[in-house]
Amino acid sequence: MVEYEIHAVRYAHNAERRRAENFIGGDPHDGPMPMDFFVWVVRGGGRTIVVDTGFDEAMGRKRERKIVRPVADGLEAIGVDPAGVEDVVLTHMHYDHAGNHHLFPRARYHVQDREMQYCTGRCMCHATLRHPFEVDDVTAMVRRLFQGRVAFHDGACEIADGLSVHLVGGHSRGLQFLRVRTRRGWVVLASDASHYYANFEQGRPFPVVCDVSETLEGYDAMRALASSPDHIVPGHDPLVLERYPPAPGMPADIVRLDADPKR
Ligand SMILES: [Zn+2]
Ligand SMILES: [Zn+2]
Repeated sequence: MVEYEIHAVRYAHNAERRRAENFIGGDPHDGPMPMDFFVWVVRGGGRTIVVDTGFDEAMGRKRERKIVRPVADGLEAIGVDPAGVEDVVLTHMHYDHAGNHHLFPRARYHVQDREMQYCTGRCMCHATLRHPFEVDDVTAMVRRLFQGRVAFHDGACEIADGLSVHLVGGHSRGLQFLRVRTRRGWVVLASDASHYYANFEQGRPFPVVCDVSETLEGYDAMRALASSPDHIVPGHDPLVLERYPPAPGMPADIVRLDADPKR
């Protein structure tokens, strides 16, 4: 039975974000509510799986997001050589999850059928729905497809012993989260199935969404699959870095999610 260690590696930060921007319908107590950007690394049973690939400096400038540590440097800090990574799971294809194409030349990319259909189909006719995507990320994935380097999933799938992906949709048509067996039980890496703790704890979806009902159902699905609510790790919340301990010898923004959180 494989138990995995999980690192969350922060690579970017947006200090300007306001509370009202993070919930459908805004927030009556508007104020700052910064956003962090992470990639995650799951290791165990002789395998290293990278979850999402972030964006690079050029994209950070274009989107006015500040890189705090390039993804490649964060991976190197925890001893991961991107060139050797064989499996990358993309939770979805938004620009902040699917860039840095050249880092993983050998990897097979795991993505949901519905996400590729969404980001290559008629919904991208609409500027509002297209906005979180970058055409270069999408075309890079199409090229990978023709290189035989894409693994499609349709719903839930166990991609390794104790490691599975679960389709949510909601925020993006083919968004998936991960469920990972660890020494403290089943951890759910929500990615954008819940940007912040407050989204799923209070049942208040993030405003970038294509199906609100799927987002709400996703909160329930994560609760059903995590060992406890404390085992659900949101995708963009700076509180993650307060609750989880740094990996040994690492800075405070590279943390271990298989360790018990502080509350
Ligand atoms: Zn997203
Ligand atoms: Zn995101």
